[in-house]
Parts: sequence; structure tokens; C-alpha cells
Amino acid sequence: MTIRHPEKVNKPINPIKKKPDWIRSKLTNSKEFFLTKTIVNNNNLVTVCQEANCPNITECWSKRHATFMIMGDTCTRACAFCDVKTGKPLELDLLEPVKIAKAVYKLNLKHVVITSVDRDDLEDGGSNHFYKVVKATREKNPETSIEVLTPDFLRKGEAYKKVLEADLDVFNHNIETVPRLYTKVRPGARYFASLELLKNAKVFNKKVFTKSGIMVGLGETKDEVIQVMDDLRSAEVDFITIGQYLQPSTKHHPLNRYYHPDEFKEFDSIAKTKGFLLVSSSPLTRSSYHADEDFRKLQDARNKQLECHQHQ
Ligand code: SF4
Repeated sequence: MTIRHPEKVNKPINPIKKKPDWIRSKLTNSKEFFLTKTIVNNNNLVTVCQEANCPNITECWSKRHATFMIMGDTCTRACAFCDVKTGKPLELDLLEPVKIAKAVYKLNLKHVVITSVDRDDLEDGGSNHFYKVVKATREKNPETSIEVLTPDFLRKGEAYKKVLEADLDVFNHNIETVPRLYTKVRPGARYFASLELLKNAKVFNKKVFTKSGIMVGLGETKDEVIQVMDDLRSAEVDFITIGQYLQPSTKHHPLNRYYHPDEFKEFDSIAKTKGFLLVSSSPLTRSSYHADEDFRKLQDARNKQLECHQHQ
């Protein structure tokens, strides 16, 4: 058996805290769930839903909503919170753009989220491959809105621009945690580089919605979370997602605490005052959770904002 996280073998053991009642995934193993599963398996597709062991999988797949993970199932980074396999990735699958486009078509998706593992081994961080996948998906599914959840393209120059040149609707890049915890939680990344990426994405393509997410429960303070909100707004991010960190194994970053649903509501109210077009804050919020409905809400919020400006 291959070890999923070879870099974590010598890490200390952090016991997993018992989940509170409000962390309950909905069990709805419907016909639609199995249809999604069949299409994913038959086309040899990788989803972050499975790779990251997402607690929302039965609910999302029952609504035929899956988040495709491109460029393989092996990540070149070793973030302390993430359950995606780490190691040396395989060559890119040149047929992947067609496979994703077909799967979106078969699932008849109104909205699709496409993410990837980090590919620091590739000169462009995989931006050209992202571009091809989005293009092929758009061509076969002109009515489907497309959201990408990208890596940070750290030290890859302006590679991120290639992704934005594809015809996409939402550019999502997760900031994940507060800057103080970066060296422990996201050692291969840089907080201000991620912020810069989000800011530059908006400068490069004013039309695209920008989105970013943070997990709480890693040891941050509430004030630090509020500071992240301000930082994201200064990068003109439209949509923030805030969810509870769940520790994938005893070798992952220790869970500091579970936030109560009321505390998520409090974050929701505070974030709204900061001027985000949309906020999603709840224990089970993940960056692609309800992404289809949220995209429509984003469009409505922008239209309302434009109407207000016209009447001023
Ligand atoms: S929240 Fe996202 S990652 Fe989790 S199951 Fe739903 S689509 Fe997949």
C-alpha cells in the first residue's frame, strides 16, 4: 500500500477531537448520487470530493454537483490540513480536457467547479492545462457557468493570466488560514502572494467574480479572521467562504476547536459589513459547497449593485 502522506510519517500524533452534533453530513444516497459516482468512475475522473474526504459528498453528489480535480491525484505541496495525496505526480493527461467536458455534459451541470492539485513541478504550474480544460468544457457546454479553484502559481510569474484568458465565470483561490499560521498550516505558500494573486486576477479580468475561503479551528483568533476579511476586501474579492476545519488524520494539523454555528453567523454578519457581494459561513461550508446556487446569487448581487449605481 502506498502512503498517502510520506512527509507526515514522522510528525507527532494529534488525537482527533470528537465531532459536535452540528457537524453532521446528510446521508442521502439517492439514484442521482450513484449516477454521479458512475460517471466519475467510468471516465477515470478525480474529484476533490473524494480525495479530500469531503463531509458533504452525499448531499452534493445527490444534486449531481461534483468538483473535478485536474492534473492528477498527487500534490507537490504538503499542506498540514489537506488530505489530498502528496508525492511526485504523473505526466499530464492530454485527454483530460475532453474527459471533463464530456462528464459535465453527461451530468448536465448548470455550474461546474474545476480545481487541481499543486503542480510546482511544471514550468507554468499547470496554467495552460487549466486553460485547455476550461476551453473544452465551455465549447461542449456553452450554457454551463465555470468556476476554477486554482493553486497560487507561486514563483510562476504571470502564468495565472493564462487561466483567466479562458472563458470563465468565477476565479477562486483559497487563502485557507490567517497569516500567522502559514508556516505551520501552509508552509509552501505565502499569504501575501495569495492575496496578490486574487487582486491581480481582478485587475486582469474585471468581469470575473473572485472568491476565496478560510477554515477556522486551526488556532486563529477571531480578530485575525476579521483582518483576513479586510485583506480580501482590499484585494477586491467578491465572495468569502468560511467553514470549520476538520482534522483528516492524527498526523494532520491539530484541530484547535470547533466553532459553534452562532459564531459562524457572527462571522457572516461581520463579513457582510465589509462589502463582500456574497458570504457563506457555516460549519460545513466548503469553497465549492452550493457553488451553483451561490453563482446565481453573485450575479443577482452584482446586478443590484449596478442598478444602484445607475440610480445615483
Ligand atoms: S462541498 Fe465541494 S468538495 Fe465537498 S462534496 Fe461538495 S462539491 Fe465536493
